Parts: sequence; structure tokens; C-alpha cells
Amino acid sequence: MIPVDEALRIVLAQVSSLPAEEVPLGEALGRILAADVASDVDMPPFDRSAMDGYALRAEDASSVPAVLEVMGQVRAGQMPRDAVGPGQAVQIMTGAPVPAGATAVQQVERTRSLDQGRRVEIVSAVEAGANIAPRGSEVRAGEVVLSRGMPVTPAVMAVLSAVGAARVSVGCRPRVAVLVTGDELVGVAEKPAPGHIRNSNGYAVMAQARLAGAEVLDLGVVPDDAGRLAAAVEPGLAADVLLVSGGVSEGVYDLVEPVLQRFGVELLFTKVAIKPGAPLVFGRRGGTLVFGLPGNPVSAQVTFDFFVRAALLRMQGATAVSRPTVEVEIAAGVKNRSGRRAHSPARVMWSFGRLLAEPLRSMGSADIVAHARANALLVMEAERLQAEAGERLPAVLLGDLLSS
Ligand code: AMP
Ligand code: MG
Repeated sequence: MIPVDEALRIVLAQVSSLPAEEVPLGEALGRILAADVASDVDMPPFDRSAMDGYALRAEDASSVPAVLEVMGQVRAGQMPRDAVGPGQAVQIMTGAPVPAGATAVQQVERTRSLDQGRRVEIVSAVEAGANIAPRGSEVRAGEVVLSRGMPVTPAVMAVLSAVGAARVSVGCRPRVAVLVTGDELVGVAEKPAPGHIRNSNGYAVMAQARLAGAEVLDLGVVPDDAGRLAAAVEPGLAADVLLVSGGVSEGVYDLVEPVLQRFGVELLFTKVAIKPGAPLVFGRRGGTLVFGLPGNPVSAQVTFDFFVRAALLRMQGATAVSRPTVEVEIAAGVKNRSGRRAHSPARVMWSFGRLLAEPLRSMGSADIVAHARANALLVMEAERLQAEAGERLPAVLLGDLLSS
């Protein structure tokens, strides 16, 4: 058994980045930027009004009330025609360029229109620079605004739009083949006969792969039969990553390892000191990385999250590949008798100024319901046998924090 960190190092050491491709901006969400992105414009591109109101010379509104002559109007999308002189103002809209001569904008709520709009009374004083975003104050043309390795989030989409990136260079999607094994498995639409269960790993793992940016090839479900397994594994070895679920523990019908070896897959580890998920197998053949995920559904999902997800993100060029870990205060005690680094499901919330984790009752590595309710995994190192309520533990965040 090797430690979790070492296993992750071994996996990442085998990863090479896939080439980049250009995609239309509308399809870039969730992809990983393959190149730095520079702005082709100043932001803002002109001195921009942040308010609806009146552009004026600040000194004309230093003692109030002050009555100014309204010279005209400038709307968003227009260029101002006239400069603002002493005693003058121009009515201006949010997003419109500030006229020459004006040094401040007073918001309309602090003014009163007089003489059908020919004059305006400035009710409260305004300082020079108020409500004006100067040209280039956010970003200068030529400046790098996004770095390669960043995931494209909605906020990143906004920046890409603003700099005219109609096409975006991103890491290619890894092709991930998923093969599920087990004599006991039936489809979701079936009623399991005695001794059978529905295949849940297939859906879970394929969903995880898609969220990690992969293109999924579903190789279906095969029984625990070496011949059937071999026939199904073979096409999977043409993918960037082959995931096999189940059949990697010590049982008589756990046949995945020998079948992989028969195809020339070099096994780089076959056990990790992690709970859940110890039987995780990792190997490589040529350009294909192969993971034998434990059949236990929580084990499969957790080992996917820690190792496969990291590999898929790194293939696409991502800088950050592991989920964030935070320190939390636990609301109830937890135990770890596994001798491995243990991960137990919890709900982490922001509560009275600290992150509080409520451990969830879980029956272990098959308890998919507890896992689905969790937004975090409490981490206990092998040496740590228990932690009491009120103590602090690291927690790997799987989802959004809750707030109480
Ligand atoms: P295995 O790793 O094949 O020995 O399976 C370990 C446990 O996980 C057994 O209880 C299996 O029934 C269960 N299991 C294996 N594959 C799946 C699957 N695709 N969906 C749900 N449970 C599974
Ligand atoms: Mg099995």
C-alpha cells in the first residue's frame, strides 16, 4: 500500500498534456485555457460614467446648492459633442463617455432638474473623479488578463467576450472509456433479481468524467469472466484513459489486474492507503492511462475525485487539479480504525464565524446516500484514531459550502 500523496505523484508523473484546440467562445465553459489571453482594448476604453447623472467640473459643485447650465446629453454608445466649461453640465447616462472638461459625475438622485431641463441644481457636493472610471484603470491594452491553465468559468467567459476572443484556445478533451464489471449488476430500468443490484458506478463515474472535461466512451457492463472482460478492455486501450470499475480486490472473481497485464498494461500501483478506495489500481500502456476503480460505489467516486479527476484536468493543462482542503471544526466525534488515511462524509457550513462540519452517519464505502448528502470529506491521517467534537480536521470540499 502506498500513501495517497505518493499515489497522486505517480499518477501525475504519467500525465502528458493533450494538444490544444480552438473552440467557439459559447462552447468554452468548463474547458482549460491553453494560452494566456491579453486584452486588445483598454478597460474601460474611455473615461466612463458609473452613474446616471450630470457630468460637471467638480469645482463648480464644491459649494452647494449650485445651479449649472445643461449643455446637452450623452448616452451610452455616443461620443459627447461638447466639452463642459465653467458653470456647465452635461446630462450623462451610465456607461457613456465623460465629456472633455468634466472632472466628476453627480448622480441624478443628488440633483434637481430646473426649467424643463435647461438647468440643473446640484444638491450635494461632489469630489473630483467621483463616478468616473478612467480609461484603462481596470486593464491596459496588451495586458495579460487570463492565464493558461485556468478553467473557463462564467466570469472568465465575460473577460473572453470583452477582449474579443470569439474563439478560445483550450486543452483537448481527454477521451475516457468506461467499462463496468460485475456479475451482480443490472440496468437502472430493471428490478434487481435476488442477489443483484443496479449498476450505479457507471453513471457516477461517467458523470464525474464529463464534469472533469472528458469525452466519454461507454463500454457497457461485462460479467466477471476473463474472456468477456478481455474483449471489452481491448477497445478501451485506444482511449486516453481507460476506467474499469470493480474486480480489483482480492476475490476469486476479481480478474481485472491479470487481464490488464495480459494486454501489456504496466501496473504502477495496485493498492493505496486510502479509505475508502484501497484497491485502486493504476497503470499505463503507451499513451493510455488505466485506472482500475474499486467496485464499492463510494470508493469508486472518491478515488475518481482524487486521482482520475486530477489526471484528466492535468491532461487539459489545468494548473489546479485537486479539490480544495479547508480546516473545519467538527460538531461530533469521528473515528479512524483503518490504518489508512480515512475520508468520512460531512456537511460543512459557515456558522457563527467558523466552518463547522457535521459528520454524516455512513455505513461505509457502499453508502452512496451518505456520500450524496455530503459536501465534504473529513480527512484523518492513518495515525489519527479519533477526533472529538470541537476539534479541528482538514476537509476536502466536494461541493458548495452551506450557510446556517
Ligand atoms: P468488487 O470491487 O467488484 O469486488 O465490488 C465491490 C462491491 O461493490 C460489491 O459489493 C459490488 O456489488 C459493488 N459494486 C461493484 N460494481 C458496482 C457498480 N457498478 N455499481 C454498484 N455497485 C457495484
Ligand atoms: Mg465485482
